[in-house]
Amino acid sequence: MVNDDARRVLVEVAQLAADHIERRRDDLVAAPYDRVALRVEVEAFDFASPRDPAEVAATLFDLLRRTGIRTDHPRYFGLFNPPALTSAIAGDMVAATVNPQLAVWGHAPAAVEIERHLVSLFANRVWGDGAGAGTFTSGGSEANNTALLAALARRYPEWATRGVAALDRRPAIYVSAQAHLAWIKIARAAGLGSGAVKLVETQDGLSLDGQTLEKAILGNPASDPVLVVATAGTTAHGAVDDLSGIADVGRKHRAHVHVDAAWAGGVLLDPAHRHLLDGIDQADSVTIDPHKWLAVPMGAGLYLARDWTALKTAFAVTTKFMPPAVADTLDPYTHSLQWSRRFTGAKLFLALAALGLDGYAKMIEQQFALGDRLRQSLANDGWRIVNDTRLPLVCFAPDDAAHVVTIEREIAGAGEAWISSVTLRGAPCLRACITGFETTEDDVDTLVAMLARARNRCAG
Ligand SMILES: *Cc1c(COP(=O)(O)O)cnc(C)c1O
Repeated sequence: MVNDDARRVLVEVAQLAADHIERRRDDLVAAPYDRVALRVEVEAFDFASPRDPAEVAATLFDLLRRTGIRTDHPRYFGLFNPPALTSAIAGDMVAATVNPQLAVWGHAPAAVEIERHLVSLFANRVWGDGAGAGTFTSGGSEANNTALLAALARRYPEWATRGVAALDRRPAIYVSAQAHLAWIKIARAAGLGSGAVKLVETQDGLSLDGQTLEKAILGNPASDPVLVVATAGTTAHGAVDDLSGIADVGRKHRAHVHVDAAWAGGVLLDPAHRHLLDGIDQADSVTIDPHKWLAVPMGAGLYLARDWTALKTAFAVTTKFMPPAVADTLDPYTHSLQWSRRFTGAKLFLALAALGLDGYAKMIEQQFALGDRLRQSLANDGWRIVNDTRLPLVCFAPDDAAHVVTIEREIAGAGEAWISSVTLRGAPCLRACITGFETTEDDVDTLVAMLARARNRCAG
């Protein structure tokens, strides 16, 4: 039997995983490596003869540890790529092991019911009225893509059969110029072209308000505002758009109103900071990525909607080869982009069950506190704080903006921490974000000290 040593292999790989978790703090966040040597090492796997999977897994852990940016490191202060919670890794392992097919309820009733339960939980945190529809996605991009298709289906019921020919005017998607550029790819995939995405310049260079959006819509009378998007937690600066202002304007123009809260949506689980998302309940739909702030392994997004109608118009198909629907249940393949479907909810289910809602709230609050500490320490150290957000994401600049790139390179080169740089109102700045639950006050203080040294070297 191919699988006859399942127990030994899985136990050995679990040991390797535990070793990795226990030791990662001692690794460099970004170790130098040789690109050519890496390719040679990878291509040495010619698959000519069978090898022991546990032994190859050890090599794989080693390869991943030695190369690239270690997003699972406590001093990775980069984009929203946290290490995964152990409970969530375990949930992913259950999903991979049983490998249920979630296309239809009847094949995987427990898995589909668990995902429905989780969708309801999050939808309730948004709308709080027992309403709630939605689906797990591969990530924020698929969730946002779903929002556009739902918007088209709602606005033009004929679009489902006739496609863009059913549209009487050129459709437009309004997002802030600070929004995630996944919208460009999404517009192309829908056949609308990137020109359909109207990137609205914000007043303060950070967040979009209703008035500015209204002006942009009125300035484009030839196109039909099918979808307006508010971003809650922009990728670069952590800004939160005016959620209710945008919703008001969107509704007035009969647009579908979507909130992209891919990262900051995690705050829905933290009662102490939930007010930062006030107005989110005015949206027709919401994107949240559990693989960001909720720290489950990658490949987990959520599209939440007030109701099922648009999803069903956009995605329903019936085929002879699929099993018939079971009464009172919904088959995921009829209201989502995916067909064969992995049990993505398993990792979030285990993480929620293991931490509890309070545990999740504490984890998020701790990251807010670390963000405050970082912001305060940098300000005390004479850096200019240039973004304005309560989220744990700090954009800051030295007196001489020309030093930004040098400082960024120096931090990355030393390999002890990782931060990035972005531009804000046309000027470059450094960006440090608390992303992981293993990050401590010491890690924050270490980063601040490294930054001070790098800045001094620039000045001297
Ligand atoms: C990360 C992110 C996305 C894209 O999500 P993926 O999971 O990377 O596909 C979209 N919008 C925002 C605001 C994000 O932070």
